[in-house]
Amino acid sequence: MSASVINFSALQSEPLLKDKDGTVLAVAFPFIKDGKPLEGAPLCCLSLKAAGSMRFRWNEPNETRGNFFKSLGVDYDSVVAPELIHSKTVFCVDNADELAVFRALRSEGDAVLSVNPAYVPAVTVADCVPIYLYASEKKVIGMVHSGWKGTGIIKEAVERLVNFYKCTPSEICAVIGPHIKDCCYSVDAERAAYFRERFSEGCVTEADGAFMLSLERANLKLLLDIGVRHENIAVAAECTSCTKELGSHRRETAGLPDDMPIEERSRLFTVMTAFIK
Ligand SMILES: [Zn+2]
Repeated sequence: MSASVINFSALQSEPLLKDKDGTVLAVAFPFIKDGKPLEGAPLCCLSLKAAGSMRFRWNEPNETRGNFFKSLGVDYDSVVAPELIHSKTVFCVDNADELAVFRALRSEGDAVLSVNPAYVPAVTVADCVPIYLYASEKKVIGMVHSGWKGTGIIKEAVERLVNFYKCTPSEICAVIGPHIKDCCYSVDAERAAYFRERFSEGCVTEADGAFMLSLERANLKLLLDIGVRHENIAVAAECTSCTKELGSHRRETAGLPDDMPIEERSRLFTVMTAFIK
């Protein structure tokens, strides 16, 4: 199933931003259409660990994040980011009125779609799966955050592209960015069973009595089942937990006491921002 999608290295992609010492702070990679990089299309972008935490909460200023977008020449007012809640909630934000409402409501959800080329849909990730979407005819972009709990949100997002923006599945390009892969993502029996039942047997492999979960295979199955063509799908090779240049919840919080409050814990790993521009 996954053999025919394009595999690429996010870290070996084009640097998007470097600091004064030449350290790469962000990379950009293209959408793929018919097995080839799609020219003239927006780029899939990802900040790296070296850029610092891109954590986003409505009630919490983050200077690092603001400066990061500024360094890229992105007007922070054009960044459209929900506060993430591991849901299957998808927002469509296409004009200034909708953006004003989105902000006034301090919207919480996990995906943003837009046909407005001035907007920069953005989510944050650190082991969860960033999925970049682009409808090449209708020119709709979408940024999806899919953790294990939210797996299935990609189906909601693609359905919205088809039903709301009237895109055809065959024009839709999807890039699955770096996330925790089945080399590192051990889960308990209950979660393994949940994924096998809902998303296919192939999502879980067993190694030395541990259940290893592939969020990549779950999302690929969802994309292919709703008609996105394999020639239009690309998958980043990197596992966040294995790759020190990337932020990883699992790697960076390994060894912390189990009873540490989640709010405290969540400040101790580097969330990267995934966005389209
Ligand atoms: Zn790994």
